[in-house]
Amino acid sequence: MALMGQMMSAPLLISSIIKHAARYYGSTEIVSRRTEGDLHRYTYRDCELRARKLAQALGALGVKQGERVGTLAWNGYRHLEIYYGVSGMGAVCHTVNPRLFPEQIAYIVNHAEDGYIFFDLTFLPLVEGVAPHCPNVRGWVAMTDRAHMPAEAKVPLLCYEELLDAQDGDYEWPQFDENLASSLCYTSGTTGNPKGALYSHRSTVLHSYASAMPDALGCSASDVILPVVPMFHVNAWGLPYSVPLVGAKLVLPGPKLDGASLYELFEQEKVTFSAGVPTVWLGLLQHMQASQLKFSTFRRTVIGGSAAPPAMIRALEALDVEVIHAWGMTEMSPLGTASKLLAKHHDLPDAERHKIQEKQGRVIYGVDMKIVDGEGKELPWDGKAFGDLLVRGPWIIERYFRNDASPLVDGWFPTGDVATIDADGFMQITDRSKDVIKSGGEWISSIDIENVAAAHPAVHMAACISAYHPKWDERPLLVVVKKPGAEVSREQLLQFFEGKVAKWWIPDDVAFVTEIPLTATGKMQKLRLREQFKDYKLPTA
Ligand code: ADP
Repeated sequence: MALMGQMMSAPLLISSIIKHAARYYGSTEIVSRRTEGDLHRYTYRDCELRARKLAQALGALGVKQGERVGTLAWNGYRHLEIYYGVSGMGAVCHTVNPRLFPEQIAYIVNHAEDGYIFFDLTFLPLVEGVAPHCPNVRGWVAMTDRAHMPAEAKVPLLCYEELLDAQDGDYEWPQFDENLASSLCYTSGTTGNPKGALYSHRSTVLHSYASAMPDALGCSASDVILPVVPMFHVNAWGLPYSVPLVGAKLVLPGPKLDGASLYELFEQEKVTFSAGVPTVWLGLLQHMQASQLKFSTFRRTVIGGSAAPPAMIRALEALDVEVIHAWGMTEMSPLGTASKLLAKHHDLPDAERHKIQEKQGRVIYGVDMKIVDGEGKELPWDGKAFGDLLVRGPWIIERYFRNDASPLVDGWFPTGDVATIDADGFMQITDRSKDVIKSGGEWISSIDIENVAAAHPAVHMAACISAYHPKWDERPLLVVVKKPGAEVSREQLLQFFEGKVAKWWIPDDVAFVTEIPLTATGKMQKLRLREQFKDYKLPTA
């Protein structure tokens, strides 16, 4: 007979994280900028009590284990209570991205079969628009108190604070199978309908442990952590779990994500660590450079979601902020890799060290990755061969919600990204397979081109897309938004590429625009750009 280990068996449940924070970091603060306009402060102890009251309130509303409860909300303490109250009682916390089109939101709410939706007041007009298309939602809960409830609304509303006030908090978190569903996130669906990634308690707790480690996000109780990445974007990269898990102070910025508001909050609350997509840092850097500001406590940030341009990494370093370039996706909870140096890298000359930091980095324990060629044959880890990136592990998707067809290939999840891996296991994304530019059968990395353009002092934002070419099929076209007041010509920009990339990678043309469309998660929307420029005639054609 097999000899079993003789240690206690405790299910890995999300409620255990907030219970731990309340018990061992009870007086540590959570500070939130509210939609009501003010700054709200309370502690992990307060948060856990209110999450318990919420769990009771959900029970009173008839919410059952496994039922989906949606949110349309910013990063704030009430949203955090919903994360824990909903999952903790055994229901599924479904964060909906309010920046999606109303039709997509209605599709997602109906596909998920959300029983209730909790929303921040900002989104009342959105709720009024989608509610008639979501017949299965039994109640819409405004995340505010009675005094701030809208005087009139086209939809009957419940009041969040009233729901909580009716409960006494005398509630024990239930124990159940750690493999039960805890939360649900839909991919933004740049093509086709959005698809749901259904996380479990086990996958979430494991991801929280692993992502808090020093070579990943490196969260500690001595940090003050401000996730700029929204709680509706893959659970804010897991920070609402990993921050209470380590007992750090948590700062939640609410709806104000512009450079000036963020800077004020970073300084006032002595933030040490943050996380967000590149476009957020663009806004903050611009504000700081314009007003010649410095950070007094902010020292580290994670940048992910799309490639962090080297120029941005350097600009933050000049402000004494270390950038941790990370990669992941909704289907991966989301963290896969982070770029932290190995001991042997510390003595390298700056330029070589920078090259390593600019990669998307090494996997964290729990994630396994490989690159394969068109036939599925594994490619060498030489930092040069590039191919389709596949991953597997306990917080990586097996199949999409309410969709039986498995996306897996021999047990591996194909990410849709094209990458290289070097001898030390540092992965670098060449491109998303749909964004790569195929010039005469050879591939050009749109990310590499964008990274060069982003380093030009007159460039605010740059996207590289393919444009039709009669001989080469596709050639790179650079779409550029200039910095306010800055001047640069097409010729000057193209010259800037010389010596920085292979000659045949240099874009065939530059199109200056006033704006590059962004996706609901703040990434450059290249699909829209490709549509916009689909009839573009290159001067080289
Ligand atoms: P979507 O963009 O569909 O909403 P995700 O937010 O899950 O989905 O994005 C996942 C994708 O974002 C990855 O497959 C990859 O293409 C891109 N991505 C994420 N982080 C990085 C990074 N650091 N560098 C380059 N691309 C990244």
